[in-house]
Amino acid sequence: MEVLAKYSKDELENFVEKLGEKKFRAGQLFSWIYSKSAADFDTMSDIKKDFREKLKDIAVILDTKIKKKQVSADGTIKYLIEFHDGCCAETVLMRFDNRANLSACVSSQVGCKMGCDFCATAKRGFVRNLETYEIISQILTIQQDTGLKITNVVFMGQGEPLDNYKNVYEAISRINSDLSIGIRRITISTCGIAPKIKELCDYELIPTLAVSLHCADSDVRKQIMPVERRYNLENLKESLKYYCEKTGKRVTLEYILIGSLTDTTQMAQKLCDYICDLKCNINLIPYNPIGVDKYKKPAKKDMMIFKYLLESAGKKVTIRLERGADIDAACGQLAGKE
Ligand code: SAH
Repeated sequence: MEVLAKYSKDELENFVEKLGEKKFRAGQLFSWIYSKSAADFDTMSDIKKDFREKLKDIAVILDTKIKKKQVSADGTIKYLIEFHDGCCAETVLMRFDNRANLSACVSSQVGCKMGCDFCATAKRGFVRNLETYEIISQILTIQQDTGLKITNVVFMGQGEPLDNYKNVYEAISRINSDLSIGIRRITISTCGIAPKIKELCDYELIPTLAVSLHCADSDVRKQIMPVERRYNLENLKESLKYYCEKTGKRVTLEYILIGSLTDTTQMAQKLCDYICDLKCNINLIPYNPIGVDKYKKPAKKDMMIFKYLLESAGKKVTIRLERGADIDAACGQLAGKE
């Protein structure tokens, strides 16, 4: 079976022409798949019946299945998606009240190699990279299931996007062209693979960058994030400055507040020192428990003090809303478990 989600618009034209059909049929198919989120060929009402029948015999739109779907009290939906080989990873739909934004949080790998000590994905180890079309398929799955059009994509699901650079980059181009999502509405989040951050700046389409900093003390960061041993805070900062200079954009620094470890006033001071000459916003993420809990949630009071200290240093700070925690869809809770 041909999997149509694999094809770019040009490739779809080739495919259609090979079947002896006119080129404009590809445009119709394309619009049904990407804009109208058709889940099957029967709904494609302006495509003549015999061509639809032919398509049904030889092609599918997606080769993925929704293995499990959970809806949170706050409206967040978590999908466990099964890929053609039986591997699974999550995709999360987040809606924010009062905003027309519908964000898809996609996975770039099944599992992860980075080994961050506080993250549930790391605990399951690495399985494989996701293909470009498997990343696209996650967004199409949400659109088909809900009938809604995704407006923002964040690479914050399972995996380290810059460790699957090529496929992720191709996916970004297709999200931009095929799904018509502006490049500013596409964000990748990385644990800080410094040379790859620089490489990203050479591309024509440069996504918004979020970095999982989580700690501005190198020794403590080493304990919780093995990546610090390869690319330390200094390397990371150099790459972030490069990104800001090259793109004129700001980076978002994600910072997990872990009770009594990263949420202290001393740590806030280190963070202020680290970011004083960086064009950035800070996104504080209260630690989400992942079961085997060596770490604890921050106290509300400590979160507020931490936020205040950063704001006093002139930075824009947001505290990330905990979304979908009741269905284990919050940050760091994605482990592909069934
Ligand atoms: N590998 C990328 C993409 C994952 S994004 C990255 O590291 O950025 C998922 C975000 O959730 C990251 O910022 C990650 O550090 C954070 N996270 C992981 N475990 C968490 C936990 N238990 N509580 C809160 N946030 C967590």
